[in-house]
Amino acid sequence: MFYFVFFAYAQEKHNVRKPVDIPIYLSGTFGELRSNHFHSGMDIKTKGEEGLPVHAVEDGFVYRIKISRGGYGRALYIKHPSGIISVYGHLKVFNDKIEAYIKQKQYEKQKFEIEVFPYKIELPVKKGEIIAYSGNTGGSSGPHLHFEIRDLQEHPLNPMNFGVTIKDTIRPVLRGLFAYTLDSLSQINQAQGRVPIFFHKKNDTLYLTDSINAYGKIGIGISVYDKQNNSYNYNGVYKVSVIVNGTKIYEHVMDELNFFKSHYINTFIDYPYYVKKHRRIQKLFVEPYNLLEIYTQLVNDGIINIKNKRNYNIQILVSDFNKNTILINIPVYGYKAKIIEKEKKKTTPYFVKAGKKTTFDFGKVKIIFGKHTPYYDFYLDYKPTQKGFILNNNIVPLHKSMVIKYDISDIPKSKRKYLYLGKKYRKKSHYLSSKVKGDTLTAYSKYFGKFELAYDSIPPKIFPSNFKPKSKLTNYHFLSVELLEKETGIATYNAYIDDRWILMEYNPKKRKLTYNFSDLKLNGYKHKLKVIVTDKLGNRGVYQTYFFRH
Ligand SMILES: [Zn+2]
Repeated sequence: MFYFVFFAYAQEKHNVRKPVDIPIYLSGTFGELRSNHFHSGMDIKTKGEEGLPVHAVEDGFVYRIKISRGGYGRALYIKHPSGIISVYGHLKVFNDKIEAYIKQKQYEKQKFEIEVFPYKIELPVKKGEIIAYSGNTGGSSGPHLHFEIRDLQEHPLNPMNFGVTIKDTIRPVLRGLFAYTLDSLSQINQAQGRVPIFFHKKNDTLYLTDSINAYGKIGIGISVYDKQNNSYNYNGVYKVSVIVNGTKIYEHVMDELNFFKSHYINTFIDYPYYVKKHRRIQKLFVEPYNLLEIYTQLVNDGIINIKNKRNYNIQILVSDFNKNTILINIPVYGYKAKIIEKEKKKTTPYFVKAGKKTTFDFGKVKIIFGKHTPYYDFYLDYKPTQKGFILNNNIVPLHKSMVIKYDISDIPKSKRKYLYLGKKYRKKSHYLSSKVKGDTLTAYSKYFGKFELAYDSIPPKIFPSNFKPKSKLTNYHFLSVELLEKETGIATYNAYIDDRWILMEYNPKKRKLTYNFSDLKLNGYKHKLKVIVTDKLGNRGVYQTYFFRH
């Protein structure tokens, strides 16, 4: 019992300090819809610059440091006695103490990309202490600070609930409204499937639609965004509710997420619409294969059952965190009429059943769907091509990767080590993680499309970037080389001065490896530099030169 009380106390919401000194403007909100996930933090704008001080939001200790070329880039995770974890991503550089700590680990492991879990006593931090400087590392597309708060079970929590708030007096904006028929008997304005509902903005708060005729099981979908004061960014909304004839039948709130369920966004949004229009409609009803935990109110999964000759008033409320709200009002009349536009579903001989392992043998190519690969049943389309094959349907999302097995028995053994399966996109073959064993190449893909066997026998090329080979570099602080790798991409990189391993930081955006001369003390005047870079098929590029430095 005591344990339970303690636990509840530890998770109680409280206010933290802001992680930056400047006023907070967001380029991304918590719970915002992204590809394959809900945004698990807030993206704080840093005036388009790097190098802004980042502060610990409470007392605590650094419990995890991760440096990767993608994802959060340079990231710090701090555990706080109050029962939360704070996360800071895309950092340019850590403070001196943390930087020295991680650099030692990088030299120990001889790796730039690294993840370590320091002991509690190693890197304590004080509330307000500068722990790092903001940057643009990892998968960011511009300088900003990705900031998260998590509970001790690593569930991301909305930082706005911890007092990291913004100025926002602007209401969300509706840009698309749709109704969906949810079985073969239902209809909306004598049509089936996704039916657009025309609306007009009555005033700043209220959107009205004409009365629609409908019958049977239907659901609503909306496309919305939210803007904040003094910021051009289109961000996500906080809360959406649906009220039918005065009863709230649906509500979701972006207070807490779960990394293991974030993929279900593919069933939360209208995925086929997203593929075609690059715009997300959020469904205000829950599909059977959606395990998200963001719902705070659900009656019949948000599905509205319209009966003949009855009137319904559907109201949708959309709010941002600051409670700026819009109301969408849809009058519905129950009317069972002749269905003019029947929903047509394309079928093929290749039926994929969700929840069951399915293998298709197309001769040279075998495709395997695991039990949990698709979210729902669908029909697969397969077409062989000269160099490979085409797999559709690209409007079906996959929860996990399908396995592709390609018979390569007619490819000479000498060529097989350069072989991979590529997914064609904009005339280019994109490397899919592939393995060759015996006469079979095995590859994995989460997306459908055009696949081709491709070759990569060209090693990455390495060029001096900020220096001239064989020159005097005594006054240099850094040494950079540039990489050129056109096919499968960079896998490993290692560099040595006088046969000692040196840490070169990899910046994939600039395609550069950079060494900081203050890392090691060099003996003598003439020094040998060797850089070895491999691509994903193990083609090895080597660059060697020498330079002079006291
Ligand atoms: Zn972010």
